[in-house]
Amino acid sequence: MNQAAQPDRVLKPDGLSRTGIRTKVFSLVLLAVLLPTTLVGISAYWTARNVLTEKLSDRLSNRASLAAASISEWFQERGHDASVFASSNLVSSGEPTLIEAYLIEVRGRFPMYSTLAVVDTQGSPVASVGDIEKVDLVDANLSLDWHGDAPALRIHSPIRAGGGAVIGTFVMSCDFESLRAELFDEGSSERLILVSPHENEDRVVMAQPPNASPPQIGSYAVDENTLSERRDPNGARTLATARSLHVPGFGERLIVHVETERRAAFAAVDELRNRIVAISAIVAILVISLAFALVVSLTRPLESLTAGAKAVSNGDYSLELPVRTRDEIGYLTEVFNRMTAALKQSHDRLEHLSTVDELTQLINRRQLRTALASTLQQAKRTEAPFSLIMIDIDHFKAFNDKFGHIKGDDLLANLGAFLLESLRATDIAARYGGEEFLVILPNTEIEDAKEKAQSIRTGFSEVCNGPAKVTLSLGVAAWPRDGAVEKEVLDAADRALYSAKKRGRNRVVAARNRVRQRTSAR
Ligand code: GH3
Ligand code: MG
Ligand code: MG
Repeated sequence: MNQAAQPDRVLKPDGLSRTGIRTKVFSLVLLAVLLPTTLVGISAYWTARNVLTEKLSDRLSNRASLAAASISEWFQERGHDASVFASSNLVSSGEPTLIEAYLIEVRGRFPMYSTLAVVDTQGSPVASVGDIEKVDLVDANLSLDWHGDAPALRIHSPIRAGGGAVIGTFVMSCDFESLRAELFDEGSSERLILVSPHENEDRVVMAQPPNASPPQIGSYAVDENTLSERRDPNGARTLATARSLHVPGFGERLIVHVETERRAAFAAVDELRNRIVAISAIVAILVISLAFALVVSLTRPLESLTAGAKAVSNGDYSLELPVRTRDEIGYLTEVFNRMTAALKQSHDRLEHLSTVDELTQLINRRQLRTALASTLQQAKRTEAPFSLIMIDIDHFKAFNDKFGHIKGDDLLANLGAFLLESLRATDIAARYGGEEFLVILPNTEIEDAKEKAQSIRTGFSEVCNGPAKVTLSLGVAAWPRDGAVEKEVLDAADRALYSAKKRGRNRVVAARNRVRQRTSAR
């Protein structure tokens, strides 16, 4: 079949789509490895994260509950202290000097009480230790006394006379340092903030660390079972929980807020996540490398086979592909090589048949055209002349008639063999027609060609050992002497041969010189 007529069937390895086997195998391997790894990784991460969140929630919740209980207890202890001091006989004696001595003694024993005072029913001090002026008598036993940012706890306890009548109030104030010491553990990573919520502004009663900022309590509901997230003033994300606090005798609401930095709390989970990502990446790289090696080992021989098929389809049968593996692809390559060798044999045989005349083993007339064209091309390139000798067996018809065609064939074969033997390697002999032959003598002047023709004529009559001697007529012509193109030189040689026949056969005649012809024509 004609290859050129079916260009679509010509294989083109260079143009093969790269999304072929390689991409498909890669995609499959990546999917098969990365999908489970990623899913398992994500699932492990979320499980660990949930477990940790639960633990964290429990821890913060416990801390908040314990802190709330401690604070409530501390407030009540202060109230109790005040009622004990108020019930002293010295206090109810009404004697300012006795009371003052008592207050100094109490102050000495309980330094946390910065101010101690006994006021009358109008709120005017009877005796005091510390800084105190007129006291507003409020209903609540416990209240916050704000001096700037640091509040103190103000405790009021009624002073009763022997009969039970209220004769004054025992007033004292206490800062929150002792509570702080009780509540806080220096090494703790958690922050604890006691907040007094107000409509306009939440106020920090006490915080650990002291500079911890108040959360916007109003911005989230105090839900004892949830962890809420916020960003602290430094921008760090925190997890927090809160407890509302109701202390008997304390009129205001207090909220205990406990929080911890999210990053520190989730460091273990984050490390797990990073490890999962790293392991996934290493696995992916390993698997991709292996897949790459596998795919290359598969596709390289296939590519070489495809390239080989293309070469064969372009007429190159000399190809032999290396067989590198003993697997199916190796076997396929071997079969391909055998197929190519068989094709080459058939091709060579066909070529021989199509170019060589079977009887004489000389090139045939078709191949002669190609030989003549390339001889002319070379002659033009080297500017060296070439000559042609046209040979015809004399009276061959009579020979055939007399001795039969088989003897005639033998004679033709003999002449072919004789020509092959007597010519130079660069000369070309062809069977031109029935009993006509043509010899091409590259790089040969007409004179030398004539000599060669003579030696063929005489030589063949000597070696010709058929049933009868035959003679040859030969016509000689040369390029560029007798023509500019092959056909002209060929015609000149043919005319010379015709002339040899006319002049009586068994002779060599050279073509009449064109140049001389033209000169004489003038
Ligand atoms: P002339 O001297 O004028 O060349 O006479 P001729 O008889 O040689 O020439 P002609 O052209 O009359 O005859 C050529 C003969 O060659 C006729 C044909 O039978 C014979 N012939 C052509 N090809 C073959 C062949 O392949 N085998 C044989 N045995 N004879 C062939
Ligand atoms: Mg003839
Ligand atoms: Mg003849």
